[in-house]
Amino acid sequence: MRWVGFKQGVLPFFGALMAGTVFALPLEPGKLARELKMNSRTIRVKLSGFGRVITIKGDHLALSLAKRPDLGNVQSEEWIIDCKRSLIFDPSTQKSRQIPRSGILIESLSGVLSLNQRNFRDQLVVYPKELLSPYDESVRSNSECLVVNHIDLEMYLESVVNGEFNSQWAESAVEAQIIAARTYALFQMGEMRKDRGRVFDVESTQKDQVYLGLDRVDSKAAELVAKTKGLVLVPRFGKSSPIKAFYHASCGGRTITPEKVWGASFKGFGKGVRCPYCYGSPSYSWDYRLSFHELEKKIWNGIQKDPANGKNWPKSYRDDPNRWYLRGIVARGEAPKSVRMPLGALIPEARAGRADERDQGHIKELQFEFVDRDDPENALKVKMDAYAARNWIDPSRLKSTWYELVTRGRAVFFRGKGSGHGVGMCQWGAKNMGEKGFTREQILLHYYPGVKIARISP
Ligand SMILES: [Zn+2]
Repeated sequence: MRWVGFKQGVLPFFGALMAGTVFALPLEPGKLARELKMNSRTIRVKLSGFGRVITIKGDHLALSLAKRPDLGNVQSEEWIIDCKRSLIFDPSTQKSRQIPRSGILIESLSGVLSLNQRNFRDQLVVYPKELLSPYDESVRSNSECLVVNHIDLEMYLESVVNGEFNSQWAESAVEAQIIAARTYALFQMGEMRKDRGRVFDVESTQKDQVYLGLDRVDSKAAELVAKTKGLVLVPRFGKSSPIKAFYHASCGGRTITPEKVWGASFKGFGKGVRCPYCYGSPSYSWDYRLSFHELEKKIWNGIQKDPANGKNWPKSYRDDPNRWYLRGIVARGEAPKSVRMPLGALIPEARAGRADERDQGHIKELQFEFVDRDDPENALKVKMDAYAARNWIDPSRLKSTWYELVTRGRAVFFRGKGSGHGVGMCQWGAKNMGEKGFTREQILLHYYPGVKIARISP
Protein backbone atom coordinates (compact mmCIF):
# COMPACT_ATOMS: atom_id res chain seq x y z
CA MET A 1 0.00 0.00 0.00
CA ARG A 2 1.19 3.50 -0.75
CA TRP A 3 0.50 4.64 2.76
CA VAL A 4 2.92 2.13 4.20
CA GLY A 5 5.57 3.59 1.93
CA PHE A 6 5.00 7.07 3.26
CA LYS A 7 5.00 5.87 6.81
CA GLN A 8 8.31 4.12 6.43
CA GLY A 9 9.72 7.29 4.92
CA VAL A 10 8.97 9.33 8.00
CA LEU A 11 9.80 6.70 10.58
CA PRO A 12 13.51 7.55 10.98
CA PHE A 13 12.52 11.14 11.75
CA PHE A 14 10.03 10.09 14.40
CA GLY A 15 12.46 7.55 15.73
CA ALA A 16 15.06 10.26 16.32
CA LEU A 17 12.50 12.56 17.90
CA MET A 18 11.38 9.89 20.32
CA ALA A 19 14.80 8.56 21.19
CA GLY A 20 15.03 8.11 24.92
CA THR A 21 11.28 8.42 25.49
CA VAL A 22 11.21 4.95 26.92
CA PHE A 23 7.87 4.88 28.58
CA ALA A 24 6.46 1.78 30.16
CA LEU A 25 3.03 2.25 31.60
CA PRO A 26 2.14 0.44 34.80
CA LEU A 27 -0.75 -1.13 32.94
CA GLU A 28 -1.42 -3.34 29.97
CA PRO A 29 -3.23 -1.45 27.22
CA GLY A 30 -2.49 -4.58 25.23
CA LYS A 31 -4.66 -5.84 22.48
CA LEU A 32 -6.85 -2.82 21.99
CA ALA A 33 -3.78 -0.68 21.52
CA ARG A 34 -2.46 -2.98 18.83
CA GLU A 35 -5.77 -3.06 17.05
CA LEU A 36 -5.83 0.72 16.91
CA LYS A 37 -2.15 1.05 16.00
CA MET A 38 -1.51 2.65 19.36
CA ASN A 39 1.53 2.19 21.49
CA SER A 40 1.52 2.17 25.27
CA ARG A 41 2.26 5.89 25.53
CA THR A 42 -0.63 6.92 23.32
CA ILE A 43 -3.46 8.69 25.08
CA ARG A 44 -6.98 8.80 23.62
CA VAL A 45 -8.52 12.25 24.00
CA LYS A 46 -12.18 12.85 23.27
CA LEU A 47 -12.56 16.15 21.41
CA SER A 48 -15.79 18.10 21.42
CA GLY A 49 -17.47 21.28 20.32
CA PHE A 50 -17.15 20.81 16.58
CA GLY A 51 -20.82 20.78 15.69
CA ARG A 52 -22.65 18.61 13.23
CA VAL A 53 -20.32 18.91 10.24
CA ILE A 54 -16.59 18.31 10.48
CA THR A 55 -14.00 19.08 7.83
CA ILE A 56 -10.67 17.32 8.17
CA LYS A 57 -7.78 18.51 6.02
CA GLY A 58 -4.14 17.55 5.84
CA ASP A 59 -1.17 16.57 3.76
CA HIS A 60 -1.90 13.21 2.06
CA LEU A 61 -4.64 12.26 4.49
CA ALA A 62 -5.03 8.54 4.80
CA LEU A 63 -8.23 7.02 6.01
CA SER A 64 -8.58 3.48 7.19
CA LEU A 65 -11.23 1.51 8.94
CA ALA A 66 -9.77 0.98 12.37
CA LYS A 67 -10.54 -2.73 12.59
CA ARG A 68 -10.82 -3.64 8.90
CA PRO A 69 -7.31 -3.32 7.45
CA ASP A 70 -8.36 -5.65 4.62
CA LEU A 71 -10.38 -2.79 3.17
CA GLY A 72 -7.18 -0.86 2.65
CA ASN A 73 -6.56 2.85 2.88
CA VAL A 74 -8.16 5.67 0.98
CA GLN A 75 -6.32 8.92 0.46
CA SER A 76 -7.56 12.45 -0.01
CA GLU A 77 -6.63 16.01 0.95
CA GLU A 78 -9.97 16.59 2.60
CA TRP A 79 -12.80 14.68 4.26
CA ILE A 80 -16.17 16.03 5.26
CA ILE A 81 -18.11 14.22 7.95
CA ASP A 82 -21.85 14.54 8.45
CA CYS A 83 -22.19 13.55 12.08
CA LYS A 84 -25.95 13.41 12.18
CA ARG A 85 -26.07 10.78 9.43
CA SER A 86 -22.67 9.22 10.31
CA LEU A 87 -21.40 9.65 6.75
CA ILE A 88 -17.91 10.47 5.54
CA PHE A 89 -17.69 12.28 2.23
CA ASP A 90 -14.71 12.73 -0.12
CA PRO A 91 -15.21 16.01 -2.07
CA SER A 92 -12.67 15.02 -4.77
CA THR A 93 -14.51 11.85 -5.78
CA GLN A 94 -17.97 12.94 -4.54
CA LYS A 95 -18.25 9.56 -2.81
CA SER A 96 -19.44 8.93 0.70
CA ARG A 97 -19.59 5.97 3.01
CA GLN A 98 -21.10 5.08 6.34
CA ILE A 99 -18.87 5.36 9.40
CA PRO A 100 -18.79 1.91 11.02
CA ARG A 101 -19.16 1.43 14.75
CA SER A 102 -15.54 0.38 14.93
CA GLY A 103 -14.58 3.84 13.69
CA ILE A 104 -12.41 5.31 10.96
CA LEU A 105 -8.83 6.30 11.55
CA ILE A 106 -7.36 9.34 9.81
CA GLU A 107 -3.70 10.31 9.74
CA SER A 108 -1.57 12.53 7.56
CA LEU A 109 1.87 12.38 6.05
CA SER A 110 3.06 15.41 8.01
CA GLY A 111 1.60 14.12 11.29
CA VAL A 112 -0.68 17.17 11.58
CA LEU A 113 -4.42 17.20 10.87
CA SER A 114 -6.69 20.20 10.61
CA LEU A 115 -10.11 19.64 12.16
CA ASN A 116 -12.47 22.54 11.42
CA GLN A 117 -9.33 24.70 11.17
CA ARG A 118 -7.88 23.60 14.49
CA ASN A 119 -4.69 21.55 14.31
CA PHE A 120 -4.09 18.21 16.00
CA ARG A 121 -1.13 15.85 15.89
CA ASP A 122 -0.92 12.10 15.33
CA GLN A 123 -4.26 10.41 14.59
CA LEU A 124 -7.95 11.14 14.69
CA VAL A 125 -10.49 8.36 15.07
CA VAL A 126 -14.11 9.17 14.28
CA TYR A 127 -16.92 7.00 15.62
CA PRO A 128 -20.66 7.28 15.09
CA LYS A 129 -22.15 9.22 17.98
CA GLU A 130 -24.16 6.21 19.12
CA LEU A 131 -20.99 4.69 20.46
CA LEU A 132 -20.95 7.27 23.21
CA SER A 133 -24.43 6.53 24.47
CA PRO A 134 -23.56 3.80 26.99
CA TYR A 135 -21.42 6.40 28.78
CA ASP A 136 -23.31 9.60 28.14
CA GLU A 137 -27.06 9.43 27.77
CA SER A 138 -27.24 13.08 26.68
CA VAL A 139 -25.63 12.11 23.36
CA ARG A 140 -29.01 11.26 21.90
CA SER A 141 -30.02 14.89 21.99
CA ASN A 142 -27.04 16.26 20.05
CA SER A 143 -25.62 15.68 16.59
CA GLU A 144 -21.91 15.58 17.22
CA CYS A 145 -19.69 12.68 16.28
CA LEU A 146 -17.40 11.05 18.73
CA VAL A 147 -13.96 12.30 17.65
CA VAL A 148 -10.95 10.94 19.49
CA ASN A 149 -7.39 12.19 19.09
CA HIS A 150 -4.83 9.42 19.58
CA ILE A 151 -1.67 11.23 20.54
CA ASP A 152 1.62 10.61 22.25
CA LEU A 153 1.19 11.39 25.96
CA GLU A 154 4.10 13.85 26.05
CA MET A 155 2.78 15.74 23.01
CA TYR A 156 -0.63 15.86 24.66
CA LEU A 157 0.95 17.42 27.76
CA GLU A 158 2.63 20.10 25.63
CA SER A 159 -0.84 21.33 24.74
CA VAL A 160 -2.36 20.90 28.20
CA VAL A 161 0.22 23.40 29.57
CA ASN A 162 -1.41 26.36 27.83
CA GLY A 163 -4.91 24.89 28.05
CA GLU A 164 -4.77 24.59 31.83
CA PHE A 165 -1.91 26.85 32.78
CA ASN A 166 0.51 29.18 31.05
CA SER A 167 3.97 28.24 29.86
CA GLN A 168 5.24 31.75 30.70
CA TRP A 169 4.59 31.39 34.44
CA ALA A 170 7.44 30.53 36.80
CA GLU A 171 9.14 27.37 35.57
CA SER A 172 8.84 25.43 38.82
CA ALA A 173 5.09 26.08 38.88
CA VAL A 174 4.65 24.99 35.27
CA GLU A 175 6.75 21.86 35.86
CA ALA A 176 4.69 20.97 38.94
CA GLN A 177 1.56 21.37 36.83
CA ILE A 178 2.93 19.15 34.07
CA ILE A 179 3.82 16.41 36.54
CA ALA A 180 0.30 16.57 37.99
CA ALA A 181 -1.25 16.54 34.51
CA ARG A 182 0.87 13.53 33.42
CA THR A 183 -0.10 11.69 36.59
CA TYR A 184 -3.78 12.44 36.10
CA ALA A 185 -3.62 11.31 32.46
CA LEU A 186 -1.91 8.03 33.36
CA PHE A 187 -4.46 7.35 36.09
CA GLN A 188 -7.29 7.82 33.60
CA MET A 189 -5.55 5.68 30.97
CA GLY A 190 -5.36 2.87 33.53
CA GLU A 191 -8.96 3.24 34.69
CA MET A 192 -10.64 3.73 31.34
CA ARG A 193 -8.91 0.77 29.69
CA LYS A 194 -10.39 -1.60 32.24
CA ASP A 195 -13.54 -1.21 30.17
CA ARG A 196 -12.60 -2.52 26.75
CA GLY A 197 -15.65 -1.00 25.13
CA ARG A 198 -14.56 2.51 26.01
CA VAL A 199 -12.76 4.29 23.19
CA PHE A 200 -11.28 7.29 24.99
CA ASP A 201 -9.28 7.93 28.15
CA VAL A 202 -9.86 11.63 28.84
CA GLU A 203 -12.05 14.45 27.65
CA SER A 204 -10.53 17.64 26.27
CA THR A 205 -12.49 19.87 28.65
CA GLN A 206 -12.42 20.76 32.32
CA LYS A 207 -14.12 17.43 33.01
CA ASP A 208 -10.58 16.11 32.71
CA GLN A 209 -7.87 18.43 31.37
CA VAL A 210 -8.26 21.28 28.90
CA TYR A 211 -6.60 20.23 25.64
CA LEU A 212 -6.93 22.40 22.54
CA GLY A 213 -4.49 20.70 20.21
CA LEU A 214 -1.33 21.84 18.48
CA ASP A 215 -2.33 25.52 18.23
CA ARG A 216 -1.73 25.97 21.95
CA VAL A 217 1.75 24.45 21.99
CA ASP A 218 4.75 26.77 22.22
CA SER A 219 8.45 26.08 22.56
CA LYS A 220 8.51 26.83 26.29
CA ALA A 221 5.73 24.32 26.94
CA ALA A 222 7.59 21.65 24.95
CA GLU A 223 10.85 22.42 26.77
CA LEU A 224 9.28 22.11 30.23
CA VAL A 225 7.44 18.89 29.34
CA ALA A 226 10.76 17.40 28.23
CA LYS A 227 12.38 18.57 31.48
CA THR A 228 9.88 16.58 33.57
CA LYS A 229 9.81 13.51 31.36
CA GLY A 230 8.61 10.37 33.13
CA LEU A 231 7.94 12.07 36.47
CA VAL A 232 4.67 11.18 38.19
CA LEU A 233 3.07 11.29 41.63
CA VAL A 234 2.49 8.02 43.46
CA PRO A 235 1.22 7.37 47.01
CA ARG A 236 4.02 7.69 49.57
CA PHE A 237 3.11 4.27 50.93
CA GLY A 238 1.77 1.23 49.14
CA LYS A 239 1.50 0.43 45.49
CA SER A 240 3.42 2.74 43.16
CA SER A 241 0.79 3.63 40.64
CA PRO A 242 -0.16 7.15 39.52
CA ILE A 243 -2.71 8.87 41.72
CA LYS A 244 -5.73 10.69 40.36
CA ALA A 245 -3.93 14.03 40.66
CA PHE A 246 -6.87 16.41 40.82
CA TYR A 247 -6.19 20.12 40.56
CA HIS A 248 -8.32 23.23 40.32
CA ALA A 249 -7.99 26.95 39.52
CA SER A 250 -8.06 28.50 42.98
CA CYS A 251 -8.88 27.00 46.38
CA GLY A 252 -9.82 30.22 48.21
CA GLY A 253 -7.53 29.55 51.19
CA ARG A 254 -7.74 25.84 51.87
CA THR A 255 -7.98 22.70 49.79
CA ILE A 256 -10.31 19.83 50.63
CA THR A 257 -10.28 16.06 50.22
CA PRO A 258 -12.04 14.13 47.44
CA GLU A 259 -14.33 12.61 50.11
CA LYS A 260 -15.70 16.05 50.88
CA VAL A 261 -16.60 16.72 47.27
CA TRP A 262 -17.55 13.37 45.82
CA GLY A 263 -18.04 11.16 48.84
CA ALA A 264 -15.34 8.87 47.46
CA SER A 265 -11.76 8.33 48.50
CA PHE A 266 -8.72 8.21 46.24
CA LYS A 267 -5.28 6.88 47.06
CA GLY A 268 -2.57 9.43 47.84
CA PHE A 269 -4.83 12.15 49.23
CA GLY A 270 -4.42 12.92 52.88
CA LYS A 271 -6.10 15.92 54.44
CA GLY A 272 -6.78 19.26 52.85
CA VAL A 273 -4.00 21.86 53.25
CA ARG A 274 -3.95 25.54 54.02
CA CYS A 275 -3.11 27.70 51.01
CA PRO A 276 -2.07 31.27 51.70
CA TYR A 277 -0.77 31.55 48.15
CA CYS A 278 -3.87 32.12 46.00
CA TYR A 279 -5.01 35.16 47.97
CA GLY A 280 -5.82 37.96 45.54
CA SER A 281 -6.14 35.64 42.54
CA PRO A 282 -9.01 36.37 40.12
CA SER A 283 -11.46 33.93 41.70
CA TYR A 284 -10.31 34.12 45.29
CA SER A 285 -13.73 35.56 46.18
CA TRP A 286 -16.77 36.11 44.02
CA ASP A 287 -20.48 36.93 43.93
CA TYR A 288 -23.21 35.54 41.75
CA ARG A 289 -26.87 36.49 41.51
CA LEU A 290 -29.46 34.30 39.88
CA SER A 291 -33.22 34.83 39.57
CA PHE A 292 -35.54 31.99 40.54
CA HIS A 293 -36.82 31.99 36.98
CA GLU A 294 -33.31 31.40 35.59
CA LEU A 295 -32.71 28.77 38.24
CA GLU A 296 -35.87 26.89 37.24
CA LYS A 297 -34.69 26.87 33.63
CA LYS A 298 -31.27 25.55 34.64
CA ILE A 299 -32.85 22.78 36.70
CA TRP A 300 -35.00 21.64 33.81
CA ASN A 301 -32.04 21.80 31.46
CA GLY A 302 -29.96 19.75 33.92
CA ILE A 303 -32.64 17.07 34.25
CA GLN A 304 -32.64 16.65 30.48
CA LYS A 305 -28.88 16.86 29.88
CA ASP A 306 -27.64 14.98 32.94
CA PRO A 307 -29.91 11.97 33.47
CA ALA A 308 -27.48 10.43 35.99
CA ASN A 309 -28.33 13.18 38.49
CA GLY A 310 -31.69 14.10 36.98
CA LYS A 311 -33.21 10.75 37.83
CA ASN A 312 -32.96 11.65 41.52
CA TRP A 313 -35.60 14.33 40.93
CA PRO A 314 -39.15 13.28 41.79
CA LYS A 315 -41.19 11.94 38.92
CA SER A 316 -43.93 14.47 39.61
CA TYR A 317 -41.45 17.25 38.83
CA ARG A 318 -39.91 15.56 35.81
CA ASP A 319 -43.33 14.85 34.34
CA ASP A 320 -44.56 18.43 34.56
CA PRO A 321 -42.05 21.07 35.72
CA ASN A 322 -44.45 23.90 34.86
CA ARG A 323 -46.79 22.71 37.58
CA TRP A 324 -44.19 23.61 40.23
CA TYR A 325 -43.25 27.07 41.42
CA LEU A 326 -39.87 27.57 43.12
CA ARG A 327 -40.49 29.06 46.55
CA GLY A 328 -37.08 28.85 48.16
CA ILE A 329 -33.61 27.34 48.27
CA VAL A 330 -31.43 26.49 51.24
CA ALA A 331 -27.85 25.27 51.45
CA ARG A 332 -26.57 22.67 53.87
CA GLY A 333 -23.05 21.79 54.86
CA GLU A 334 -23.90 18.25 55.87
CA ALA A 335 -21.88 15.13 55.18
CA PRO A 336 -21.97 14.44 51.46
CA LYS A 337 -23.92 11.68 49.87
CA SER A 338 -22.32 9.55 47.24
CA VAL A 339 -22.84 11.23 43.88
CA ARG A 340 -22.49 10.03 40.35
CA MET A 341 -19.28 11.41 38.92
CA PRO A 342 -19.31 13.15 35.55
CA LEU A 343 -18.33 11.15 32.51
CA GLY A 344 -14.72 10.13 32.51
CA ALA A 345 -14.25 10.17 36.25
CA LEU A 346 -14.50 6.56 37.33
CA ILE A 347 -14.29 5.85 41.05
CA PRO A 348 -12.50 2.61 41.82
CA GLU A 349 -13.37 2.46 45.48
CA ALA A 350 -16.10 4.64 46.85
CA ARG A 351 -16.69 5.02 50.53
CA ALA A 352 -18.58 7.46 52.67
CA GLY A 353 -17.01 10.76 53.66
CA ARG A 354 -15.40 10.90 57.09
CA ALA A 355 -17.32 12.95 59.59
CA ASP A 356 -14.28 13.82 61.72
CA GLU A 357 -12.71 16.20 59.23
CA ARG A 358 -13.14 19.87 59.93
CA ASP A 359 -15.81 21.36 57.78
CA GLN A 360 -14.50 24.31 55.83
CA GLY A 361 -17.67 25.95 54.67
CA HIS A 362 -18.13 23.94 51.52
CA ILE A 363 -21.78 23.34 50.77
CA LYS A 364 -22.72 19.69 50.50
CA GLU A 365 -26.33 19.85 49.56
CA LEU A 366 -28.94 22.26 48.23
CA GLN A 367 -32.60 21.90 49.00
CA PHE A 368 -35.14 23.35 46.60
CA GLU A 369 -38.68 23.93 47.75
CA PHE A 370 -41.49 24.09 45.20
CA VAL A 371 -45.23 24.62 45.55
CA ASP A 372 -47.94 23.27 43.31
CA ARG A 373 -49.42 26.12 41.25
CA ASP A 374 -52.84 24.47 41.41
CA ASP A 375 -52.70 23.57 45.08
CA PRO A 376 -50.51 25.88 47.22
CA GLU A 377 -50.84 23.48 50.15
CA ASN A 378 -48.93 20.89 48.18
CA ALA A 379 -45.16 21.43 48.54
CA LEU A 380 -42.28 19.50 47.06
CA LYS A 381 -38.80 19.48 48.60
CA VAL A 382 -35.91 18.22 46.51
CA LYS A 383 -32.38 17.73 47.84
CA MET A 384 -29.47 17.79 45.46
CA ASP A 385 -25.74 17.29 45.86
CA ALA A 386 -24.08 20.72 45.72
CA TYR A 387 -21.33 19.64 43.34
CA ALA A 388 -23.82 18.29 40.81
CA ALA A 389 -26.02 21.37 41.30
CA ARG A 390 -23.05 23.63 40.57
CA ASN A 391 -22.58 21.89 37.23
CA TRP A 392 -26.24 22.39 36.43
CA ILE A 393 -26.36 26.04 37.49
CA ASP A 394 -23.19 27.40 35.85
CA PRO A 395 -19.73 26.28 37.03
CA SER A 396 -18.14 29.35 35.43
CA ARG A 397 -20.24 31.75 37.57
CA LEU A 398 -20.94 29.56 40.62
CA LYS A 399 -17.20 28.99 40.80
CA SER A 400 -16.96 26.54 43.70
CA THR A 401 -19.09 24.86 46.36
CA TRP A 402 -17.56 27.09 49.04
CA TYR A 403 -20.21 29.78 49.41
CA GLU A 404 -22.93 31.38 51.46
CA LEU A 405 -26.37 31.73 50.00
CA VAL A 406 -29.15 34.21 50.69
CA THR A 407 -32.46 34.66 48.91
CA ARG A 408 -33.98 38.10 48.43
CA GLY A 409 -37.34 38.28 46.75
CA ARG A 410 -37.28 35.91 43.78
CA ALA A 411 -33.50 35.86 43.46
CA VAL A 412 -30.65 33.97 45.07
CA PHE A 413 -27.28 35.56 45.90
CA PHE A 414 -24.19 33.42 46.24
CA ARG A 415 -21.04 34.79 47.85
CA GLY A 416 -18.15 32.38 47.59
CA LYS A 417 -14.43 31.63 47.64
CA GLY A 418 -12.17 29.83 45.21
CA SER A 419 -12.74 28.38 41.78
CA GLY A 420 -13.09 24.69 41.03
CA HIS A 421 -13.65 21.65 43.22
CA GLY A 422 -10.89 22.52 45.70
CA VAL A 423 -9.16 19.10 45.63
CA GLY A 424 -5.40 18.68 45.13
CA MET A 425 -3.25 21.41 43.63
CA CYS A 426 -4.47 25.01 43.63
CA GLN A 427 -3.20 26.36 40.31
CA TRP A 428 -3.07 30.03 41.29
CA GLY A 429 -1.43 29.06 44.56
CA ALA A 430 1.16 27.00 42.64
CA LYS A 431 1.81 29.97 40.34
CA ASN A 432 2.50 32.26 43.28
CA MET A 433 4.62 29.63 45.05
CA GLY A 434 6.71 29.43 41.87
CA GLU A 435 7.15 33.21 41.84
CA LYS A 436 8.24 33.12 45.49
CA GLY A 437 11.02 30.69 44.60
CA PHE A 438 9.58 27.35 45.74
CA THR A 439 10.78 24.34 43.75
CA ARG A 440 8.46 22.05 41.82
CA GLU A 441 8.93 19.36 44.49
CA GLN A 442 7.96 21.79 47.27
CA ILE A 443 4.86 22.88 45.36
CA LEU A 444 3.74 19.31 44.66
CA LEU A 445 4.37 18.05 48.18
CA HIS A 446 2.50 21.03 49.62
CA TYR A 447 -0.68 20.32 47.67
CA TYR A 448 -0.37 16.51 47.57
CA PRO A 449 1.00 15.76 51.06
CA GLY A 450 0.35 12.01 50.69
CA VAL A 451 2.61 11.44 47.68
CA LYS A 452 6.17 11.03 46.54
CA ILE A 453 7.55 11.84 43.11
CA ALA A 454 8.59 8.82 41.07
CA ARG A 455 10.00 8.25 37.64
CA ILE A 456 8.20 5.78 35.43
CA SER A 457 10.43 2.79 34.84
CA PRO A 458 11.46 2.17 31.23
ZN1 LIG B 1 -5.16 28.21 46.96
